Amino acid sequence: MDAMTATTFSSTSPLDGSVVDTFPVHRPDDVDAAVDRARRAAASWRALGFAGRRRVLHAWRRDIVAHLDDLISLVRAETGKPRGDARLEIMLALDHLAWAATHAPRTLRRRRVGSGVLMLNQHASVGYVPYGVVGVIGPWNYPVFTPMGSLAYALAAGNAVVFKPSEYTPGVGAWLQRAFVRAGGAADVFSVVTGFGETGAALCRAGVDKVAFTGSTATGRAVMAACAETLTPVVIEAGGKDALLVDEDADLAAAAEAAVWGAYSNAGQTCIGIERVYAHAQVYDRFVEAVAERTRELRAGTGDDATLGPLTMPRQADVVRAHVADALARGATPRVGSVPGAGTTVQPVLLTDVDERSSAVRDETFGPTLVVNRVASMDEAIEKANAVRYGLSGAVFSKRRGRELALRLRGGMIAINSVISFAAIPSLPFGGVGDSGFGRIHGADGLREFAYPKALTRQR
Ligand code: NAP
Repeated sequence: MDAMTATTFSSTSPLDGSVVDTFPVHRPDDVDAAVDRARRAAASWRALGFAGRRRVLHAWRRDIVAHLDDLISLVRAETGKPRGDARLEIMLALDHLAWAATHAPRTLRRRRVGSGVLMLNQHASVGYVPYGVVGVIGPWNYPVFTPMGSLAYALAAGNAVVFKPSEYTPGVGAWLQRAFVRAGGAADVFSVVTGFGETGAALCRAGVDKVAFTGSTATGRAVMAACAETLTPVVIEAGGKDALLVDEDADLAAAAEAAVWGAYSNAGQTCIGIERVYAHAQVYDRFVEAVAERTRELRAGTGDDATLGPLTMPRQADVVRAHVADALARGATPRVGSVPGAGTTVQPVLLTDVDERSSAVRDETFGPTLVVNRVASMDEAIEKANAVRYGLSGAVFSKRRGRELALRLRGGMIAINSVISFAAIPSLPFGGVGDSGFGRIHGADGLREFAYPKALTRQR
């Protein structure tokens, strides 16, 4: 399809190639118009106050719960993920929606602050003002959970939102918007524009007051460049190459279980998934065997009994093939699986003894592959784990040194003796450093991303 001239496009299911639904390709003029409508609607949304917005957001949450099976089926159809994975991401998203709605008042309300010795006669306070209209640009891998980390927080803070879902999951984005309207929200307070990359680029140039982007590092750079022209502030939530460190005293069964879950859930298409493990030489062989045993039990497929779905984006399978082939060419050992064959159903791959210069170690794979390498000490593990450009999240399994190692491991979010757990705790800030981006969604920091601090002083 020619992205420049097409007026509509369809999302197709990775499960069987069938058309899920058809959507308009929104051009820059359409995006500008959506932002204008959002700007007009923003005033009444803001005027509702925290309590009024909380009522609508909780009603939105209840509406999603009431139509849960419908949304699970749509997420499965557009992404190909198993129903259990779809349900899990929706439940997590609902938790964030409730948290943002409930905690916005106490996080953002004006409060008095100290005035300092030279200004004792001044009453000083700080409060948080919504930006106005926020453009949210989302990926396809968790089409409910990931955008909700921006949508719920931006709306709760008092902004109107124009959302551009991924071209692979436009139906899920449109579904969330319809649920918001069913729940009593105004259609222009939360609206959706659909299309290809051009539509997202147009949203960055449409005069929004802030952009919250989640996607790849390369697109994040393009978003920042576009926003730089108008000094539009941005949040960039980009890719990762997260590492798990296994210390010599770790609970190996728990670490192996966590590594397998972290690497292969959602078919490895998880920004905070585990793509590398550095295991202490004392436990390396036993750990690898435990991971291999569990990995062999997994099955990728399109049926209801599959533990992994097919990859959502066909070209992602090419990345997996290239990374595995490169690692093997550099001498890696294929412990489970090998270079995937044609198609998007990719069986889990476990590689050991992988050259640190391999793309499987350095670049985001975003597929069901895991690299496990041996280290002589935890200092070496930290050094190797921190040697990539990404810095999103990570994990440490250690009985005695978990906190110390977690503090030395680069990244915005580190789990000790578990993986990915921080994503399920709405009060924690979510985001990374380096090529993983900057700014935070989720939690009080996430609410404050969507409102700017306004200082007031008053002479007594
Ligand atoms: P992507 O290709 O970067 O696309 C993300 C979004 O940006 C899509 O909606 C895309 O629209 C849009 N877009 C494309 N070109 C644009 C432009 N020039 N200006 C503005 N927007 C543009 O990423 P993806 O393949 O959807 O998602 C996978 C990536 O997201 C991985 O790298 C993953 O690690 C990352 N991710 C990060 C987090 C996090 O929180 N850090 C969470 C989830 C995923 P089209 O689809 O229409 O091109």
